[in-house]
This record gives sequence, structure tokens and C-alpha cells, in this order.
Amino acid sequence: MNTIFSEMESVVQSYARSFPVVFNRASGSYLYDEDGNAYLDFLAGAGSLNYGHNNPLLKRALLDYIESDGITHGLDMHSSAKARFLEVFREQILKPRDMDYRMQFTGPTGTNAVEAAMKLARKVTGRTNIISFTNGFHGCSLGAVAATGNQHHRGGAGVELNNVTRMPFCGYHGRDTDTLKMMDKLLSDPSSGIDMPAAVILEAVQGEGGLNVAANDWLKGLEKLCRKHKILMILDDIQAGCGRTGTFFSFEASGIKPDIITLSKSLGGYGLPLAVVLMSPELDQWLPGEHNGTFRGNNHAFVTAAAAVENYWSDDGFSREIQQKAELVTKRFKKIAEQEGMTELRLKGRGLMQGLECRNGDVASAITAEAFKRGLVIETAGNHSQVVKCFCPLTISEEELNKGLDILAQSVAQVFKENKMSRVS
Ligand SMILES: *Cc1c(COP(=O)(O)O)cnc(C)c1O
Repeated sequence: MNTIFSEMESVVQSYARSFPVVFNRASGSYLYDEDGNAYLDFLAGAGSLNYGHNNPLLKRALLDYIESDGITHGLDMHSSAKARFLEVFREQILKPRDMDYRMQFTGPTGTNAVEAAMKLARKVTGRTNIISFTNGFHGCSLGAVAATGNQHHRGGAGVELNNVTRMPFCGYHGRDTDTLKMMDKLLSDPSSGIDMPAAVILEAVQGEGGLNVAANDWLKGLEKLCRKHKILMILDDIQAGCGRTGTFFSFEASGIKPDIITLSKSLGGYGLPLAVVLMSPELDQWLPGEHNGTFRGNNHAFVTAAAAVENYWSDDGFSREIQQKAELVTKRFKKIAEQEGMTELRLKGRGLMQGLECRNGDVASAITAEAFKRGLVIETAGNHSQVVKCFCPLTISEEELNKGLDILAQSVAQVFKENKMSRVS
């Protein structure tokens, strides 16, 4: 294989280790390597390619825009492309959901939106502490990684990570423990040692943390608790948003109204970087330029983001399509689990954000390695990397979805067969 990567690129690379080929083309749900091998993509840019690779509708909009010498880079200056995106987002996403938010464009990665959200919450409330939850993932810059649970990422920080208090996520202590009641008691007790936080930050479905789902009641209860203690609620919808769970926002079914929402990953639509903070209008208390960034005006991403919203979210057709595919995944996952006697695998997640939890990370990575041999790109998540995470593009055809799930079923069967043989010998 081409050694330029081992010679030149930092060893910090990670996904490249799981899929050691050189990719050079991609279309829809497929990736192709330099030798012309096709791989179904059930990683989808870790959720950045919800509309598939080189989606023709978005590509057309982008090519037309480039052809007409549309603005590419514009700092945070007004541009027609940005105006169009703001209009489309307001009309087709916010208004139908009765949502009223101001929009801040940050640097184009998710972690930058998280940094801005946490800064804003601290600025507005004058408090420094922020509550985040067990197994939450919010990015790798210092503010965001402080809110992230994962020890591997935290260890890379090189400085003390502080001003964040951890609380147990929904179901963390098992079904019978009411984690909100516990949290309420800690926040109500002036001697609990928990500094009153500016905000809580959470994912409604934890992506990197292992597809842990917050129940709608729990989200509602957390919102109530936040109102009671005058704490802001930051909903990090960077991975679970943009349709991944079946609705545009992951928390829609719960009826909560977060004070601040972060979006990135699939927001740009075409795999182009774009990140935003949505804030309740009264929280928009920034000074001009106080949170800054050279690449806040990714106009190509504005074009594809607007095209994605117009083409996929103008009615509920796409949403229903995702939910149907999600039911198919659940059905087939149950079959796969039954095949192993229901003791080895557990179903996780919801929508097209589902996974199979294995006994440990070794089993999960053996399954993903086996899948790759059979032409399926799929990754793991979870606190022990023990969850095989099915993250296909939302636009995948039912045939392709079934094909990917066939490969996954075969890979699971193969790994358990080998495990049994090695136990016998
Ligand atoms: C990926 C992710 C981030 C960080 O986004 P980057 O673009 O990698 O900085 C933050 N929050 C959640 C929930 C994510 O999944």
C-alpha cells in the first residue's frame, strides 16, 4: 500500500487504521478504493453524510453556485448564500416546529459550536460550572473535552480539565434509579459541594458514548429541573440531529425546548463543514466578535445545507422513510441477536442510530474487521468500544440497507463461530 501516509501523516490518525485502503471515489452509500473495490458505508463520516456521498441534488446546487462565481469565503459578512440558508432554515425547520432561535455561525467544526455554547451559557449566567453526563461526547478542544467523558480523549488534553461536574445519564444506574431525583437533591442542597451550574449539556442519544438513549420522560424531567434551578439546557445535536433519529432534531418527540442547540456534522449536507449554535433570542448577549473564527462563513456549505433542507425536509416524507428503515434495522438486529441466543448481543439506540452491544470491545472490533473484509465499512462506539454502530446514510435504499445488514449478520456469525472454536480447543 501507499506508504506516504506512514511516512508523512501523524500517528494520531484513527479511522484509517480500521480501514487500511486508499479510498478515491464515493457515491451514495458506497465508497470505492483505488483498486476499484466497493464498500457499503455504514460509518457515513461519523454521521456527517446523512444524505450520502456526493448526493446529486446537493452537488448540482453546489456546482451551479461555483460556476456562477458565488462567494466562497466571506468571514462573517452578509452573502446571498447565507441569507438563503437562514431563510430556508427558518421557514422549513424552525417555524413548522414552533421554534424561535437566533443562529450563530461558529468555526466549522462541532467542537467549536460546543465551545461557543458553553462560553455563552457561562457569560449569560455569570456561573462557571457546567453539568455534563456520563459517557457524553462533545468534542476535543479544551472546553468541549472537559465536558466529554471518554478518558482516552480527556487524557490528550495535557492540562487539568475543570469547571465541569458529571452527573449520571438516563439509565446509568439501571432502570430502578431515578438519576434526576438524585441530581435535584444535589442541586437543592447548599452543602452538596456542587457549584450551581450555568448549564447542563447533553445528547438525547449519545453517539460516541454507545448509543445510549435518553427517555422522553427523562428529557422532560431534566428540562423541568433546569427551569427550577435556573440552569440553561444545551442540547448537543451534532451527531443525533439532522434526521439521524427519524426527526430533524433528536429530541422532538420529547417536546422539550432547549435554551441552546448545537448542530454540525450533517448540517452542511454534502460533508462540507458547517456548525451553528441556536440560542433563545434573549440569550444572544455576545459582544461583536467576542467569539470569532476565520471560517465562520463557509458559503459552499450554506448552499448545500439549504439544498438539503429544501429537498429533504419540506414535508414529512423523508422522516417517515427514515423511520421505516429504522424499523427494518431493529427487526434484523433482533434476528441477529436471536441467532446468538440473546445472551451475547444487546440492541442499542433508536432511529438510524442503532447498534449491537457485544460483551466487550474485542468482540465488537472482530465483527467490524470481519465486515470490512466482506465490503462493509462500520465502526464501534461505547465506553469500551463494545457497540457495533450502524450508521448508514439516511438516503440508503432498502436493498442496500439489507445488503449491509446481511454482511453484518454473516460477520457476527463468523466471529461467534471462531470464538466457540477457540474456546473448545
Ligand atoms: C462529533 C461530535 C462533536 C464534535 O464535532 P467535531 O466536528 O468532531 O469537532 C460534538 N458533539 C457531538 C455529540 C459529536 O458527535
